[in-house]
Amino acid sequence: MSNQSVKPSLETIVALCKRRGFVYPSAEIYGGVNGVYDFGPLGSLMKQHIRKFWTDHIRKETDNIVFLEGPILAPTPVWKASGHLENFHDPMVDCLECKKRFRSDELDLEKPCPSCGKHNWTEARQFNLMFKTAMGAMADQTSDAYLRPETAQAIFINFKNVYSTSRVKIPFGIAQIGKAFRNEITPKQYLFRTREFEQMEIEWFCKDENRKKFFEFWLEARHKFYQEIGLKDENYRFDAHKPEDLSHYSSATTDVEYHFPFGWKELEGIADRGNYDLSQHTKHSGKDLAVFDEETKESYIPSVVECSVGVDRLFLALMCDAYAEEEVDGETRVLLKLNPAIAPITAAIIPLSKKLSEPAKKIYNSLKFKFSVQYDESGSIGKRYRRQDEIGTPLCFTYDFESEDDNMVTVRERDTTKQTRIPIDSIEEYIVNTLKKS
Ligand SMILES: [Zn+2]
Repeated sequence: MSNQSVKPSLETIVALCKRRGFVYPSAEIYGGVNGVYDFGPLGSLMKQHIRKFWTDHIRKETDNIVFLEGPILAPTPVWKASGHLENFHDPMVDCLECKKRFRSDELDLEKPCPSCGKHNWTEARQFNLMFKTAMGAMADQTSDAYLRPETAQAIFINFKNVYSTSRVKIPFGIAQIGKAFRNEITPKQYLFRTREFEQMEIEWFCKDENRKKFFEFWLEARHKFYQEIGLKDENYRFDAHKPEDLSHYSSATTDVEYHFPFGWKELEGIADRGNYDLSQHTKHSGKDLAVFDEETKESYIPSVVECSVGVDRLFLALMCDAYAEEEVDGETRVLLKLNPAIAPITAAIIPLSKKLSEPAKKIYNSLKFKFSVQYDESGSIGKRYRRQDEIGTPLCFTYDFESEDDNMVTVRERDTTKQTRIPIDSIEEYIVNTLKKS
C-alpha cells in the first residue's frame, strides 16, 4: 500500500463535499446563490462535533467560563457604539460595461475588467457590509435593525447582566457560538469567505494589568486546541500582527492561519482588545459597565482578550487536512483521516449480508444514543468500506455468519484497514478508547 500524501485541490474537496452530503450549494434548484452554503447530513453532524470539541476544550482550559446565546438581530445603537455603522466598509467599484461589482482594493484599476475585458470603472466608493432590516411593522427610523456582523457585541452588551447574575469573578470568560452575516462584495474561496457564517468566540474579561498574561494564556490554549483537533503541524501557523497593522484599540493580535489550497488564510483571531468595547458601550448607553474591585476599593472597566474562530473555515481546513489518497491493489482509496471526535460518523455497523440485518440492527440500537453511529447494509462489503473511508468513519464493525456462533464482530480501522475480531460486548469500550486517543 503506497501512501500518497497529496494536497487536494479546492475542486476535489468541493466535489467530495457535494457527492457525500457534507455541503451543498445554497438554493441549488433555483440556480444557486452566491456566498451561502447548505450543510448536508454529514456536514451538519461534523459541525456539531466541531462545536462540542471547541466547547470541551475551553472547559479543559478553565472553569471560569460561562456561555451565552445572543440574538442575530440587534438595533442600530449597538452598531453605532461598536463602530460597525461608521467603519465596517469595503471599497467597491462597478464595471459600467458588464455591471459586475468588485472590491477596489483587490483590483488594479489601471487594468481592464477581469470579467469583460473593457475598461470603464465607476469611482470607488464605500459599501457597508452589514445586512440591514426593519424590526416591527412600522418601517420608520426607530425600527432599523441589522443582522449581526459578529457575535461579540451580544457578549459585551450583556457583560453586566452575566457578571451580576452568574456568580463569576474577574477574570472570567463568556463564550458564544452563533451565526454572523456580512454582505461581502465578492464572496469567494468556497466556505472561506461567505455572506452567512458561524463563529465560536471567547471574550475573556480581566484587569488591565493582566492583559498580557491572559493573552499569552489564550495563545497557548488555542495552540493546544489545533494540535489536539489534529491539524498537521506544517499546515497551520500563528502569525503575530506587526504594531503598525493593529487596530487602534488593540495592543496585540495574532492570527491563526491555515495553508488552504488557495494559500495561507486566517482561521482564528486572538486579540488583546483592551477595554475599548466595554468603554464604548458605557459611553453610548450611559450605563456604567465598570466593576468594583474589593481589594483596591476602586471601580474599573475590565479589559478583554478575544479568541474568535470561523466554524466554516475550520470545517474546510479539517476537510483539506484530512484528505488522503492511497493505492490499494491498483485502485485508489480516498479517505478522510479525521480526528475520530470530529468525524461525522464514529462507527458504522455493517451486516455482511442482509440476512444478518436483525442481529446487526440490535447492535446499532444499543449504541445509537451513545455515539454517532450509522447502520449500513446495502452494497458489497468492499464498497461500504470505501464509502465509510471517504466520509472519514474511523471504525466499521462487521457482523458476519460466524458472529451468530462466536458472538464476535470484525472491527476494521479506517487508517490502516487492519481487521481484528472482538467480542460484541466490547464494541462500546472499543469506541470509547478510539475517541479517547483523539
Ligand atoms: Zn466588465
